[in-house]
Amino acid sequence: MDIRQDFSAAVGDTPLIRLSHASAITGCEILAKAEFLNPGGSVKDRTALGLLDDAEHRGLIRAGGLLVEGTAGNTGIGLALLGASRGYRTLIVMPETQSREKIDALRVTGAEVRLVPAVAYKDPGHYAHVARALAEDFNATDPGCAWFANQFDNTANRDYHETHTGAEIWAQTDGQIDGFVCAAGTGGTLAGVGRALKAMRSGIRIALADPAGSALASFVNTGELKAEGTSISEGIGSSRITANFDGAPVDLAWSIPDDESVPVLHDLLHREGLCVGGSSGVNVAGAIRLARTLGPGHTVVTVLCDSGMRYQAKLYNPRFLREKGLPVPDWLDAAFPG
Ligand code: PMP
Repeated sequence: MDIRQDFSAAVGDTPLIRLSHASAITGCEILAKAEFLNPGGSVKDRTALGLLDDAEHRGLIRAGGLLVEGTAGNTGIGLALLGASRGYRTLIVMPETQSREKIDALRVTGAEVRLVPAVAYKDPGHYAHVARALAEDFNATDPGCAWFANQFDNTANRDYHETHTGAEIWAQTDGQIDGFVCAAGTGGTLAGVGRALKAMRSGIRIALADPAGSALASFVNTGELKAEGTSISEGIGSSRITANFDGAPVDLAWSIPDDESVPVLHDLLHREGLCVGGSSGVNVAGAIRLARTLGPGHTVVTVLCDSGMRYQAKLYNPRFLREKGLPVPDWLDAAFPG
């Protein structure tokens, strides 16, 4: 028998899928960790599990307590589902610009959802600050009733990726891996996997694929946080160095524009049958760049973070894409006649 006992046990151990088109055009093996197959549908189930296990271990949350988090959506979905499986309630603060599908998915988990305007991190109205303040308010009247997960600066996030995601990639490739690349939101995935792989072999190249509008690629390349442009991707990019990103062993970084990542994203669906979200397009575009940098014959691993079904009305909608000045493949146009 092979039975996972509950939600937590179903997180992780995701397959590594060979991307045939990306491999063919680069002469490399490009492999993608299928994180959209986690039970809550994204890589952030791992973050939710890592943070909550750590909080329980430290006695920071009481039975039946309230999980509070600020999120672009996926961490909230993971926390709410994990919380349901362990008897916690969940309160999520989220910028109103995120996809309707993610907001609806979060609502049906039973989480309380507060949408706030999308403002800069230095503004006290930023979703992460609002979430922290709400948790503090609850605890002021009933100490210990609420726990702020703090995915950006709680390094239990990165640690989970180091001991799980990174270790899985090493084992699944039998150590035959030359490079790893992904985008960073909290930085937990990149820093955790990067640390795990560097500990196994320091020559493995770790690269950041950064969406336009994020300041991280410029930080890695010049030491200065500078952002240009915007992106339709969600959940990735940052204007600051989070505690999870801080010290990540990053060798290379690229800023990847939407007109590069979105065609890669559409190819993943059309050529590989993989319907994934915008950050996965950025990641695979980054994997192609890293493969070209390393040259033919190398193995590069990246991450497919969540499902494209969470963004159907945007990333797979010809009208939305045209409004953003992005290319629309013929097959997608043909799917929506008139
Ligand atoms: N892709 C998506 C869709 C996400 O929601 C996130 C997390 N916000 C990421 C990628 C980035 O992962 P991390 O927080 O580990 O950097």
